[in-house]
Amino acid sequence: MSRSVLVTGGNRGIGLAIARAFADNGDQVAITYRSGEPPQELTEAGVLAVRCDITDAEQVEQAYKEVEEKHGPVEVLVANAGITKDQLLMRMSEEDFTSVVDTNLTGTFRVVKRANRGMLRAKKGRVVLISSVVGLLGSAGQANYAASKAGLVGFARSLARELGSRNITFNVVAPGFVDTDMTQVLTEEQRKGIVSQVPLGRYARPEEIAAAVRFLASDDASYITGAVIPVDGGLGM
Ligand code: NAD
Repeated sequence: MSRSVLVTGGNRGIGLAIARAFADNGDQVAITYRSGEPPQELTEAGVLAVRCDITDAEQVEQAYKEVEEKHGPVEVLVANAGITKDQLLMRMSEEDFTSVVDTNLTGTFRVVKRANRGMLRAKKGRVVLISSVVGLLGSAGQANYAASKAGLVGFARSLARELGSRNITFNVVAPGFVDTDMTQVLTEEQRKGIVSQVPLGRYARPEEIAAAVRFLASDDASYITGAVIPVDGGLGM
């Protein structure tokens, strides 16, 4: 059965692979993107692309209105949008910290809260949050990012407890290192260092993250909530 699916930050990288996976499933997919133009392949596949900055509550509200008008209430939300602003603590400005938290954690709060309006009414819903192995392990130079991604785990587990009785599940996918624009900033040396720590000996492809997300949103995962699924090649074990 075709569901109304919303993927934040679905114009590139992991979010794009997730949007493709749901579109291939036959779902009605909407994505949000912050800037640039959404890829033509998505619009050609009938995916609704809505410009929305998740740090702005008004834009989030407008995006939901548009999605609901065209696809009905969101039944599956994938909160994927996120940023990094890496810096060692003593060089990290308050803005470096708060902007990452405002996007990755508070931005996720905004989109999840708004999605739950329809999910509570429908008495069902699936929410998948994209955290990171860095939120579980920590990472030098990424205290802001790690704090925001660890925060998502507490957020999802609290909501899993709060809203389980309403038939809404909240799960977290924690990717390891994935080949996307986000990791292009790493030097070849840093990349080799990371890969040497990964039991599977390579980065993930975005499609490998999307497969776990699609599973958590499927009927096969109907009894899974509050789970954190690492998709990290064994890095975090
Ligand atoms: P990316 O930089 O390619 O994509 C990030 C997406 O988030 C983009 O679509 C961007 O438009 C969107 N976004 C950023 N700020 C936004 C805002 N304020 N409002 C709306 N959208 C915004 O990165 P990616 O690698 O595809 O990352 C996707 C998610 O996966 C992120 O949450 C990231 O933290 C997480 N992640 C990535 C990796 C990795 O190795 N690439 C590893 C673990 C977790």
